[in-house]
Amino acid sequence: MSDSYSLLILPGDGIGPEVMAEVRKVIAWFEDHRGMRFDVSEDLVGGAAYDKHGKPLADETMAKAQEVDAVLLGAVGGPAYDDLDFSVKPERGLLRLRKEMDLFANLRPAQCFDALADFSSLKREIVAGLDILILRELTSGVYFGEPRGIHSDDNNPDNEGGRVGVNTQRYTSGEIRRIARSAFELARKRGNRVCSMEKANVMESGILWREEVQWVHDNEYPDVELTHMYADNGAMQLVRNPRQFDVIVTDNLFGDILSDAAAMLTGSLGMLPSASLGAKMENGRPKAMYEPVHGSAPDIAGQGKANPIACILSFAMALRYSFDEGQAADDLEAAVEKVLADGVRTADLMGPEGGTPVTTAQMGDKIIEALGAR
Ligand code: NAD
Repeated sequence: MSDSYSLLILPGDGIGPEVMAEVRKVIAWFEDHRGMRFDVSEDLVGGAAYDKHGKPLADETMAKAQEVDAVLLGAVGGPAYDDLDFSVKPERGLLRLRKEMDLFANLRPAQCFDALADFSSLKREIVAGLDILILRELTSGVYFGEPRGIHSDDNNPDNEGGRVGVNTQRYTSGEIRRIARSAFELARKRGNRVCSMEKANVMESGILWREEVQWVHDNEYPDVELTHMYADNGAMQLVRNPRQFDVIVTDNLFGDILSDAAAMLTGSLGMLPSASLGAKMENGRPKAMYEPVHGSAPDIAGQGKANPIACILSFAMALRYSFDEGQAADDLEAAVEKVLADGVRTADLMGPEGGTPVTTAQMGDKIIEALGAR
């Protein structure tokens, strides 16, 4: 019998509650068949929280999120909340969680299941079997660096328009070391290889990035294979031969771009999980929030059309990275792969050949069935 894992579930808005209901089934399966124990609590976030509390995340919910081993979030937002003041928009609930939990490491796996390889914008032979992880630094860099702003450039008569826009790429060695450590830890749970990307050829912050990542490697993780690549070459390699990578670690700006590009290698939005991790807590587990990449999909909400796989794979990431249940995570991912290989498809995964899509709940049931057969 394992220890009990505490999990705060925040289904949110739109399709969030629908896809989360399928994760609940998966959790129950692991409890019934693998002797795991989950101490699950559920609460409101986003528009649902606004409706009840007048703000997108209640203080008590925030406090609970700080205490649990992991938070699992569905999606937030929807047309009913579009005209709200910026300070209480559903997305602010999400941002508050990320900020107060100090989730500095954003993990975006790009995994291409064989059965869906034809959905990719790249050729099947380039993406089939792809399984890489992009780790993006999330709380520093050019999106936060000072000075920033737009101001007049009056003393420069050659500047037509007379204004200048400034942002500052700034990283401390401490910020680089902590994201590097996350990368090496994650690599040890996967293929044991890290590729660090920056622009050390033209940016001092890139030189520091490269030196600090190398320092952490040499002093703390010499067992992990480390390579460095300029981020522009990295972008090229991602579309040329993405399977060469295992874990890619990069800064906030490059990570923003590279992770979106990598996501599209795999096809549908309904398939993409993510995780955001922070510092280790007293129990040795990192602060963590897991969520599908997709939003609340108001166009299909309440119709049983949503694909629950992104949310289920987000839970698989929680099994692997928060609970150290690597085998269970592998089994869950294999169950998803099996169901897809059997041709089971929600509406978003229907190819030109057509067929009858399954509902959200039927997809969940099929995944449970496949888990049972393992
Ligand atoms: P979206 O991701 O909600 O939907 C984009 C398209 O993909 C829609 O056609 C939708 O039907 C489809 N889609 C998304 N997830 C799907 C799934 N699991 N299964 C099947 N189809 C799926 O993005 P959007 O339409 O730009 O935004 C809708 C709302 O969600 C907005 O309020 C936006 O602010 C919010 N949003 C929230 C998050 C989040 O909670 N992390 C992320 C993005 C957008």
